[in-house]
This record gives sequence, C-alpha cells and structure tokens, in this order.
Amino acid sequence: PFETRLFTDISDVAPLPPSPAPPEGYDVAGAKEEAARCLQCQCMECVKRCVYLQEYRGYPKRYAREIYNNLAIVQGSRTSNRMINSCSLCGQCERICPNGFSMRDLCLGARREMVRQNRMPPSAHDFALEDMALSNSTGALLRHAPGREASSYLFFPGCHLAGGSPGTIAPLYDFLRDRIDGVGLWLRCCGAPARWAGREDLFDSAMEELKEQWASMGSPTVITACTGCLDVLRRDALEIEAVSLWTVLKDMPLPPHGPVPGEPMALHDPCTAAEMSDVRAAVRDICSSLGIAMEELPETGERTSCCGFGGLQRNANEPLADRVAAARVEENPRDYLTYCAMCRNLFARAGKRTAHLLDFLFPEAGKDSFDRPYAGCSRQRDDRLALVRALQSSHWMEENRPMEPHESIVLVMDDSVLALLEKRRIVHDTVKRLLFEAERTGASMDRGDGTFIASLRPSLVTYWVEYRPLGDGRYEVLGAWSHRMVVTEGGRRP
Ligand code: SF4
Ligand code: SF4
Repeated sequence: PFETRLFTDISDVAPLPPSPAPPEGYDVAGAKEEAARCLQCQCMECVKRCVYLQEYRGYPKRYAREIYNNLAIVQGSRTSNRMINSCSLCGQCERICPNGFSMRDLCLGARREMVRQNRMPPSAHDFALEDMALSNSTGALLRHAPGREASSYLFFPGCHLAGGSPGTIAPLYDFLRDRIDGVGLWLRCCGAPARWAGREDLFDSAMEELKEQWASMGSPTVITACTGCLDVLRRDALEIEAVSLWTVLKDMPLPPHGPVPGEPMALHDPCTAAEMSDVRAAVRDICSSLGIAMEELPETGERTSCCGFGGLQRNANEPLADRVAAARVEENPRDYLTYCAMCRNLFARAGKRTAHLLDFLFPEAGKDSFDRPYAGCSRQRDDRLALVRALQSSHWMEENRPMEPHESIVLVMDDSVLALLEKRRIVHDTVKRLLFEAERTGASMDRGDGTFIASLRPSLVTYWVEYRPLGDGRYEVLGAWSHRMVVTEGGRRP
C-alpha cells in the first residue's frame, strides 16, 4: 500500500456503501452512482481558516510557485509583492497543516530576499519602521524603580499597550512594584516590525541596543505584557530571562477590581500566544479568579487566528486586514475578551465590543471597559509620548524634554478629515510641523479665500496640507496627502 501525505477531512462525510460492479460491467447509471462516492480529495485545511489564503484564490503550493517566480524575475512586473507582504505571519497554517507547511516562513523569507535585492516597495513598511524608531527614541524610557539603583525585574509593557491603553500602565506598574522588589520600567519597541518587514539589518541593530540596555540594568528578568514582545525575546534574546505578565499575575493576589460582566465573553487568544500554553492557561486562571465566564472561539489556543495586525498585514493591505478582523469578530455574537492591546484595538475598529483583561484588573474610573474607541496611528503615537512625559514627572520627578515649538499648534478637523489622515497614515505631529514651517517661512500657496496649501518633506515622503488659519495657533485642516515622487522644477533632476 502507498502511504499518501494527502489529508482530507472526512469528519463530516457520511459513508456510502460501494455499488458492486456486475459481471458485465457497470451501466451508465451504475457507473455514475459509484463515481459519485468519490470525495474529490483535497486538503485545504489552512485555506478554510485563513482569510489571507482565501484572498488570492489559490492554495499554498500555487502561492509557493508564484512567490518563487516573483523573486526570480529579472525584468517585468513583480505582481506578487503585495501578496507576499499581506501574510500576517501568524503561523496558524503551519500548526494546522498535517504536513507542517509554513506560509509564514515562505513569506518572511521572501520579504528578506526582496530587501536584499533592493526590491521591497518602501510604501509597504515605512510607516511601521518609522513608528518603531520613534518608540525607541523619544517614546522610550528605561529606569530603575523610583529611589532604587538596581533592578531584579523590568516591566516591559510594549508599544501597543503604551499607545492604546496608556492609562493602564501606571497603576499596573505600581501594583507590580508593591508586590515585587526592585521592578524597573522599560518602554520601547521589541523590534518585531523590523523582523516582519524583512529588515534584518534594523532588527539586528534594535536587538543589539535592547540587549545593551538590558545588561546596563544588571540583566534583570523582563516581564512582558505583550505576547508578541515575549515571542521576540524568547526567540532572539536567549540570554534574557523573559516571563509573561500573565503568568506573574496568576501567582499573586489580584488587585481589587471592578465589576465583571454577568454574561459570558468569547475569549480571543492573540496569535503570538499560540505557542505559549503556559500564558494561555494563566489567562484562563485569572479569568476564573475574577469570576469572568468565557466561551472559546472555534479557532482557539494553538490554532488561534490573527487580528490582522501581525506581519504588518495592515500596513501592506488595509482592506484585507479589515476583512480579517471582521471575520474573526463574526465568529461569536458575544462580547470579546482578549489580552493583546492590538487585538483589542482592531476589534474595536471592526465595531466589536471588546475588552482587554487589564481593563477589568485596572479599570479607569468612570469608564466602561468596552467603551474605549479605536486608537488610530496618530493617537497611539501621541499617547506614547505623553505617557513617557507623565511617568517621568509622576514617578521619577524628572523634567520633561522641552516641547518643540510646533507642538503647541492646535488642529481643528472634522471626522472625515480625521479618517482621511488615518487612512493615509499622516500623523498629526507631521501636520503641525508642516504648518509651523509654512508660517515661519511663508512658503505656502494663498488660494485667496482664506485657505492655504503648504508642503513639507521631512524625509523621503512629501506631505501636503490644505488648511485655514483660525488665529491663536489654531488651524482648520481641510485635507492632506503625501507622495514619494519628487517633483522638480523645469523637469530637471535635483
Ligand atoms: S501565516 Fe497566518 S496569515 Fe499567513 S498564510 Fe499562515 S495562517 Fe494565513
Ligand atoms: S499547505 Fe498543508 S494544510 Fe494547506 S492545503 Fe497544503 S497540505 Fe493542506
């Protein structure tokens, strides 16, 4: 007998008895009846569960060929770039596949090769990489606990908790300090965006800096709130002892907390926790201790699905990422509970009532845990920077860095303009910088109706803003756009 590797799920197939061939052979009807028992065997287990794999109307074997062709092509269009950059690198397919085939490895390898060949479109990941650089400069903070000169532990909340739920960080950090001796604080990015973008050069330098900073604090144990950060540290910083906040909290008396919903919630495991059974179990234990009733989603635990952020899917293909989030939130009509700040944020964007487990452990006074709206890219950046300032003042009595002159500008925008800026990933700080420069230099186009257009090229991208000055440092923003193309005077190259 031949041992086939082809897997076909027959759990829903009712067996049909064979129709034996008569000695003279089948007639047409008999042959059809026997042939109709054929299952048309095919696997597609990964495709059935992954919105990304369904998007391109194929299956991994075909995608592998397309990706190979895309990398090998010397001249002509590389039509699979977007497909390669749209996988969320969540690893669900590999965990589901009876043969362990990994689209994550395939797509990540392809991205690295595109970077090596200098063929990665900058638009795919620039914004995320810029965000990471900001998190590791003005958005970073590394301190021993107030009044201490050594750390046994460092609490590492991760960029998305700091940006999406900044009000949680201080009470959570204070809670840890009260119960564990010598817990410092470390705000920065773990480097995952560089890895997902295929930028091993940036990832390696971020890792090097991270390890140096950790060593400078006396090599303490790192407590991460984000399973994505924990995954990076466990894979790429083996010398760092890293533990999950959830396994730490599980072994402590929990803080006095607010009411929890009487109805069960559907628990979503982030894809970065798929290979962390200890963390998933700790979360379920904490939920039980809080009296939270849970329902498991169809794909849960090690088979859990991504929210649409992983692998920078949202940066490369926002419509697909929206469909991924929409599919996930439709799996259960109940309110959702998760323990990843980015999953919570994107499910809120998809219109699903979703709470973060920390919202019940450290509720903000007067706020409903489900009412936190989607935090867009601009707000996340602003909140991260504001958090650094607030913690420096409240915990370490330090003076904040002086505000830059453009930061005092007040932007007035209606919802449609806010949505446009979010869609085009034009952050408010860039708009303020542009307006400040336009006023300072007078380099703006007066349209004669009280409105102006001005531009700024802070790096490789040129930004344009239509605006109306309202006086007293206030500006109504009417529209904004950006491009990488350089427009030169007289058609000459600069
Ligand atoms: S890694 Fe995730 S998004 Fe990519 S193909 Fe596999 S399951 Fe789909
Ligand atoms: S990659 Fe694996 S799970 Fe997907 S269709 Fe092929 S054998 Fe099945």
